Amino acid sequence: MQSPENYQESTFRDRPSTFGKDGKRIWIFPKLPKGRLYNYRRIIAWSLLIFVYLAPWLKLRGEPLIFLNFLERKFVLFGNTFYPQDFHLLVLAIIAFVVFIVLFTVIYGRIFCGWVCPQTVFLEFLYRPIEHLIDGNSEQQQKLAEQEMDAIKVLKRILKHGIYLFISFFTILTFISYVIGTSKLCEIFNGWPIQRFGMLMVVLTFTGVHYFIFSWFREQVCTIVCPYGRLQGVMLDVNTIQVAYDYKRGEPRGKGERGIKGDCINCYSCVDVCPTGIDIRNGTQLECINCTGCIDACNAVMKRVKKPSGLIRFASEKAISEGEKIKFNARVIAYSLVLLALLIVITYLFTVRGDVETEIDRSPGTMFQEYGPDRYSNLYNLEMVNKTNSEVDIELRLLTPEGEIIMMGDPLKAEKGEVAKRDLLIVLKKENVKMSNIHVEIGVFEKGKQIDKILSTFVGPNALDH
Ligand code: SF4
Ligand code: SF4
Repeated sequence: MQSPENYQESTFRDRPSTFGKDGKRIWIFPKLPKGRLYNYRRIIAWSLLIFVYLAPWLKLRGEPLIFLNFLERKFVLFGNTFYPQDFHLLVLAIIAFVVFIVLFTVIYGRIFCGWVCPQTVFLEFLYRPIEHLIDGNSEQQQKLAEQEMDAIKVLKRILKHGIYLFISFFTILTFISYVIGTSKLCEIFNGWPIQRFGMLMVVLTFTGVHYFIFSWFREQVCTIVCPYGRLQGVMLDVNTIQVAYDYKRGEPRGKGERGIKGDCINCYSCVDVCPTGIDIRNGTQLECINCTGCIDACNAVMKRVKKPSGLIRFASEKAISEGEKIKFNARVIAYSLVLLALLIVITYLFTVRGDVETEIDRSPGTMFQEYGPDRYSNLYNLEMVNKTNSEVDIELRLLTPEGEIIMMGDPLKAEKGEVAKRDLLIVLKKENVKMSNIHVEIGVFEKGKQIDKILSTFVGPNALDH
């Protein structure tokens, strides 16, 4: 945090950076950053964008990479199909994910926002570069915005907003194909627009919302809407590693003789590239999405004035105030280990999930039956969920005690995604039924290999009745 005698501008304390004194929006015209970190971000952002647009079309084990069919309650993630029976996995994964996000933020700050959040990726690596291509650089954009409407401005506005609308439309179609699948999407296209008027309205409404967010609302999503952004105040502390200005080295700012002035030459390059319009030299602020644009900008300036880079860098407030480098103290190591453990738990939960889930329960309200002169039987209900992408053929074997399973109806098969229900009898020799309630173990076999073991009970006559 900047020391009190060095405050040069304190309006950042009164209102968000994009609000004027009168409460009206201040439009930001940020420069595109240039530098090592921006190049890394571009690689990550473009990889994410390519993945988002291609994932519904790419297939793995006959299914799309990601398919979130809420209507039929079927979800496919990287070739694994999930059904409502896997709901517990989803709950556990969400809890683990939330804990992960909180811990990650406590240690590494809001880096998610600046590097992988869809809002930033779409805005900074798709919509903003298009704006720079059509309207010119930051100064040219500002000039264009302030000038009277003329033919050139009209043409530029039509071109830019036309492209924005097309991208929004295409993006919404992509998101919809995550829910209904690409083949259904193509079917809908064939029947448009009269036969599918309802769907057309849905697509156009969401296209409008998407276009509004990225053409006009923009950084305000991060600064005044996003709950994750608002929570930063309670998650960050002096040990959190984040984008920070080294005020010890930089102040007092201004162009001056070495030794009298600090290293900050007050060039405002860090402010010019900031997509949320803040001055990071005022310290950590709610609007900072940790995009690292100011780090790249300041490093370029430091190189020009022949001073060491890192005046703005990843550092904790404590490290800066004590003039130290980032230290991986016990807390950071402990939290990182918890993060790693959570990742392992989430991965484990998804890998141990069986492809076939079988439940066998004794039929409610039934008792044992005589089955021939020397055997007893119990009636059971079986439910089998096939979570694979092909048909499964299951065989049940009684593991303990010695006895027999007699299936009723058709052989136990289920198509992909199908839930098969059957009744079955477990038959035991009377001499093996020494108690009124005995445990049975049933093995579930597929192609001769045991894939599951189910425990249940067998009810026999009271021992005194023997
Ligand atoms: S202050 Fe720096 S890291 Fe934060 S949003 Fe602005 S440019 Fe990005
Ligand atoms: S870019 Fe660096 S030198 Fe220029 S104002 Fe920002 S902190 Fe100071």
